[in-house]
Amino acid sequence: MLPGLAVIIVGEDPASKVYVGRKEAMCQELGMHSEKFALPEETTQEELVALVEKLNCDDKVHGILVQLPLPKHLDEKAVINTIRPEKDVDAFHPVNVGKIMIGDYDFVPCTPAGIMELIAESKVEVEGKTCVVIGRSNIVGKPMSMLLLHKNGTVTTCHSRTKNIKEITKTADILVAAVGRANFVTADMVKPGAVVIDVGMNRLEDGRLVGDVAFDEVERIAGAITPVPGGVGPMTIAMLMQNTFTAAKNTLNF
Ligand code: NAP
Repeated sequence: MLPGLAVIIVGEDPASKVYVGRKEAMCQELGMHSEKFALPEETTQEELVALVEKLNCDDKVHGILVQLPLPKHLDEKAVINTIRPEKDVDAFHPVNVGKIMIGDYDFVPCTPAGIMELIAESKVEVEGKTCVVIGRSNIVGKPMSMLLLHKNGTVTTCHSRTKNIKEITKTADILVAAVGRANFVTADMVKPGAVVIDVGMNRLEDGRLVGDVAFDEVERIAGAITPVPGGVGPMTIAMLMQNTFTAAKNTLNF
């Protein structure tokens, strides 16, 4: 049996459509079983929950991903809570969030998981390092901080109410920016030699996709830096495939 991923998308959000298309293409490239459910904008909560419940019982499907954001009339939290934790390859279900907190987990949200993979592949040692994460969302910032802590980094999480953010970011040996604002991190906020991970994906008026880091100026002083596009984004999809494989492995006991 092949590892199987079901992706549900509701509505016509253009960015979501692109992400779902990439996930589908990657499944195909790897020879995994993939199913896409593109539901209309007016889908009801009951219809969406019924589909998730059906997929929870489908043996061909080991991972279920509901593409966020959902249209405003749908209750994201209730939908995520319907996914069986063993099939929750985005790791957004409270059971998986709790497991990450205690450091005993199968799945990690794909973006922070991909960042840890980038750090490991670059042979950057986290232990003992000063790590600063800008952003505290449930899908990036918080799990990112937790993973760095599990690797024995000394972690500070910054957010929109943080005072003197520059003083904090300048202490970072490893700086992760997950803010959603173009050019938020400038060279004067970065310690020379720091590892800078740019999670941001910001579409400029001229159509260009840029990160949260002013790449050209920060590149000159950083020890290592991830580009946008082509850095964290592709890793996020790779980690989704890995989580789906893990889900299949756990179910099929191979
Ligand atoms: P989010 O939910 O909007 O969270 C943004 C975080 O940034 C919040 O915690 C917010 O603080 C903080 N923030 C906003 N303004 C700030 C300021 N002036 N100073 C300090 N902190 C500030 O966004 P997200 O979902 O975490 O995503 C962040 C970025 O990563 C977005 O550009 C998104 O598109 C991108 N992203 C990329 C990938 C990928 O695969 N590459 C995956 C996911 C997300 P508060 O909590 O106080 O509001």
